[in-house]
Amino acid sequence: MSEPQTLARIAHASASLEEAERLMTVCNSCRYCEGLCAVFPAMEMRRSFSDGDLNYLGNLCHSCGACYVDCQFSPPHEFSVNVPMTLAVVRAESYQAYAWPRAFAPLFERNGLAVSLLVALSVTIFLAGFVGWHDPSVLWNSHSGPGAFYRLMPHNVMVAVFGAAFLYAIVASLMAVRNFWTDIDEPASTLVRGQSLWQAIKDASSLRYLDGGGVGCYGKDEKPTDNRRLYHHFTFYGFLLCFASTSLATLYHYLLGLEAPYPWYDLPVVLGTLGGVGLVIGPIGLFVSKQTRDPALQDEARKGMDIAFLAMLFLTGLTGLLLLILRATPAMGLLLAVHLGVVFGLFITLPYSKFMHGIYRFLALVRYAKERRSHDDLG
Ligand code: SF4
Ligand code: SF4
Repeated sequence: MSEPQTLARIAHASASLEEAERLMTVCNSCRYCEGLCAVFPAMEMRRSFSDGDLNYLGNLCHSCGACYVDCQFSPPHEFSVNVPMTLAVVRAESYQAYAWPRAFAPLFERNGLAVSLLVALSVTIFLAGFVGWHDPSVLWNSHSGPGAFYRLMPHNVMVAVFGAAFLYAIVASLMAVRNFWTDIDEPASTLVRGQSLWQAIKDASSLRYLDGGGVGCYGKDEKPTDNRRLYHHFTFYGFLLCFASTSLATLYHYLLGLEAPYPWYDLPVVLGTLGGVGLVIGPIGLFVSKQTRDPALQDEARKGMDIAFLAMLFLTGLTGLLLLILRATPAMGLLLAVHLGVVFGLFITLPYSKFMHGIYRFLALVRYAKERRSHDDLG
């Protein structure tokens, strides 16, 4: 088989996009992997690939590795087909291309260092704020009963600081989403198509395409397992439970007039505890999976971004659980400063972290669901 050519060849903005187009051309002639995931059926609906199409396919890929292991043209074959690695690079570069504001796009380049510095700075500011508002002994005194946390930081200040950080994260993420949606040339109306949204929610919540075509993700030993999908679930649902806990606690405060900390059996604490456990187990599992993956499947240059985000989620879960366990002891003040500093750092870096992969992948699944339905209707 000689290497095929696309019918309509397009000049691309980067070497990784050029390579992605080359591979999609080979794969479109081969089609051996069409049952493995959504990427190959989406590819088969196209005869030429714009930058936006390739970025869409990159974000649709779940990096299970199955198409690399199954491929008869993978290295050392002269075609050197490595779809997971190429799409991983395309995907990571797309995060930077869509970042808002543009001036912050370089944060994706040395992401591990940038996130570490921001978190260290925010923990320091919270510590200094606690001490500056009272005196150094406030960190080591015991505080208990309703309103104990607010003796270290007034509730209104806490709401203002975290509300502003969260609002910024939402605005920056929405602007990045707009850039993605424009680049892939998809109309806004797709986002209100109920059937496509519902299909994407089902596919994303079950991580349908992280199963390597039914066998699991591949590690160094080429033995597929479902561990990556399991730990993704721990992480994703842990994050959602923590978010639900915080939202419910806000309602308790403003609607019911009940001040944190709450007893262990109260719903915000139960949700937060389950979420915290998920955020400890999930990121550890994903970190271990990452270490045991075949380097040929990974974008090694951006491993720091993946690890920084896992570390942030892990620290959020761990410091939250420690705060729950030790909240009636003199360690509470220090733990509260560290926990708030980590959560603030997490919020503020969300639009410039691996967090964005979840949003772009979900949107890619929405587009795929729409395309699939239109294609099936025509067929
Ligand atoms: S990855 Fe390899 S086997 Fe799979 S469709 Fe592409 S060329 Fe064919
Ligand atoms: S790595 Fe997995 S999800 Fe990505 S293209 Fe290959 S088979 Fe599909």
